[in-house]
Amino acid sequence: MNRKFRYILTPLLLVTALSAFAPSKDKFTPAEMQQISIETPGLFAASDAFTVDFTGVSKSDFSFPLPVGKATPSAGNSELEISTKEGDAVKAMFDGVVRLSRNIPAFGNVIVLRHANGLETVYGENAQNMVKVGQEVKAGQTVAIVGGRNGRSYCRFAIMVNGRRINPETILDIRRHSFKKQLLLIEKRGARIEVNTRSGEKAKTGRSLDPDRESDPFLQSVTFKLNLEEIEQEHWAYPLPGSHVISPYGGKRHHGGVDIKTKPNDKILAAFDGVVTRACAYFGYGNCIVIRHAYGFETLYSHQSRNFVKVGQRVKAGQVIGLTGRTGRATTEHLHFETHFRGRRFNPAVLFDHIGKKLQAVTLTLSKSGMVSSKRN
Ligand SMILES: [Zn+2]
Repeated sequence: MNRKFRYILTPLLLVTALSAFAPSKDKFTPAEMQQISIETPGLFAASDAFTVDFTGVSKSDFSFPLPVGKATPSAGNSELEISTKEGDAVKAMFDGVVRLSRNIPAFGNVIVLRHANGLETVYGENAQNMVKVGQEVKAGQTVAIVGGRNGRSYCRFAIMVNGRRINPETILDIRRHSFKKQLLLIEKRGARIEVNTRSGEKAKTGRSLDPDRESDPFLQSVTFKLNLEEIEQEHWAYPLPGSHVISPYGGKRHHGGVDIKTKPNDKILAAFDGVVTRACAYFGYGNCIVIRHAYGFETLYSHQSRNFVKVGQRVKAGQVIGLTGRTGRATTEHLHFETHFRGRRFNPAVLFDHIGKKLQAVTLTLSKSGMVSSKRN
């Protein structure tokens, strides 16, 4: 072990139970048997961190899900698409217990296995599932027949810790179909999971509001919980840094957004990753921009002196999209900022702390009908 690694490891080991986690074999709750992403009971009961030792993994401990398939990262590096030929067998990655085996529209026939090392593995888009909930499986055992979509044969594969996906490439060498021989340090930080490898490299586990990266949660259920603290720093930005609120949302005049002000021609930033769906003069809004995000969110920016983006353009959180102005119905240079969810306006203060210029430390419950409710973490 090199010196740098020892430095990282020592404080963690004090609170680490070494893979002492035993998955339950027959006592899965209905929620565990129906939802792909769900916390693993007891996983962090002993401490907020544990290690998974892959330094001594032997060939019999492990199987690549499709031994002859070609793996490509997808869904923002949270999944692998492993393509192969029709009728191939999907193999369990490690010994484990089947926690879920059913059809979910967004994933087709899907299997989730829970393993003694604390990880869960997900195998989706199967033509046929070959195992039942509660069944014990061995590494390399056939759990499904490969399916796919749109005439292509592939398995959609993901690795989860406590219901959160981790980048499979943190663990797997996808070209060699092998494990990286390393010790993984898995930490629970609030609702987030952080995975550190020997090199100290961080795995991507956080969310974004990028519509191309996040799938539609309402294909699976009518409500969806979004912890804003899981959105990584690089995936959000306060739209007008250094500003103050000159007119809040709502009130007697039913203000549809919040007015925030700095100075004329100041830079306006995209609040989240997304795609521009409007960029033009629009009635009283003046020069207006609307950006579409994941989960049904949109943000609206108006009264700009100039817009720098075009309809259809992809933008990153923090990208300069326009300059503050007073076009449309405005008596002073400011940004009128609106937040929409599934076509309905809601108070931008639900997302942003206007004083701290940061995301609120809340978990939102989003419903398919367009309701947004918020609870402090
Ligand atoms: Zn306004």
